[in-house]
Amino acid sequence: MRYDDRPPSPESASSVSPERRRFVRRSGLAVGAAVLAPTALAGWVLVQLTTGAGADDARPPRIVMPAASASGTAPASASPSASPSAAAPQSDPSPSKNPLAGRTVVIDPGHNTGNFKHTDEIDRQVDIGTNRKECDTTGTTTNAGYMEAEFTLDVSRRLRTVLEAKGLKVVMTHEAGTARPWGPCIDERARIGNEATADAVVSVHADGVSSGNRGYHVILPAKVKGGAADTAAIVGPSRDLGERIGSNFARTTGSAPANYLGSGTGLVVRDDLGGLNLSTRPKVFIECGNMRDAKDAALLTSPEWRQKAAQGIADGIVGFLGG
Ligand code: ZN
Repeated sequence: MRYDDRPPSPESASSVSPERRRFVRRSGLAVGAAVLAPTALAGWVLVQLTTGAGADDARPPRIVMPAASASGTAPASASPSASPSAAAPQSDPSPSKNPLAGRTVVIDPGHNTGNFKHTDEIDRQVDIGTNRKECDTTGTTTNAGYMEAEFTLDVSRRLRTVLEAKGLKVVMTHEAGTARPWGPCIDERARIGNEATADAVVSVHADGVSSGNRGYHVILPAKVKGGAADTAAIVGPSRDLGERIGSNFARTTGSAPANYLGSGTGLVVRDDLGGLNLSTRPKVFIECGNMRDAKDAALLTSPEWRQKAAQGIADGIVGFLGG
C-alpha cells in the first residue's frame, strides 16, 4: 500500500484537479521551490517531473550531493569516509579504487508481516515534524492474499545480497519475525537511516490501488521544514537516487512507469510521508507495482521477477554512489 501513512483513496488519486498539480521541468532548484506552494495547500500532491523515461543510466554526473558529504564531481574521492586522497593510494590502493568501499545503504522493507496482529501499536500517532501520523500501517495484499509486507521483505533481502556482493555495508530497518513483531514506526525507520549516516536509503513497497492501474513509481521527498523535519539538503540527491533507481528498475524488470500517477515519468514527489520528511540522508520509496492488478500481481508474486526488481534497485543505488 502507499507507503508508511494512510493513503489517499484511489478515487482521490485520480481526481486531483489540474490546478493542484504542477508539471515541472527539470530545472534544478526551481523544482524544489515549485513544490512548496501546492503542497502547502493540498494534503498530498503529485508533482510530475518531466524526465526522459528511457532506461539508460548514463546521464552526466550532476552536482547533487550535500557539500558536507561529497563534491559530486570526483567519484574516486566522493566517499565521506574515505581517507584523504593524497594518503590513500600509498597506504592501501584497493579500497580507494572502489567508490563503494566504506559506503552504507539502508534498506527499509515497507510495513511488517506482523503489523496486522498489532493494530493498537501501529495505530498510535508519531511525530513526523510536519504532522502526526500513524506509527505504521499493515500494507496491502494481492487479491489472493500475498502480503505486501512479505513482498517488501523478500525484495529487500535480495537487494541486500546484491549490494553486499558489491562491497557495500547494508543495514535493514527490520526483518520482522521475533526480533520485530511489528513496525518499526515510521519515525524510527527514518532514524535508523540517519544514525547509520547512510549514503542512500530505499524503502521498498508495492501499491494497492484498483485493477487496471499498473507499473512502478518512485517517490521523492518534497522540500519540507517543520519540527524535526527539514529535507532541504536531501531533495536534490534523493531525486538523483530516485531517477537512477527508476530507470534501472524499468530496464531490469521491463515494467513501465505507473499509468495512474506521475504522468508516465515513474516519479512522484510527496510531502506527507514521515519516512521521507524525517530523513537527513538521500532517500526514496519505490512502489514496485500494483498488488491489486492481476497482471502486476503475477509479476510481484514471481521470485524470478523479484530478483530482477532487486537487481534494478541495486543498479540504481550503485550508480548513484559512483560505482
Ligand atoms: Zn506500502
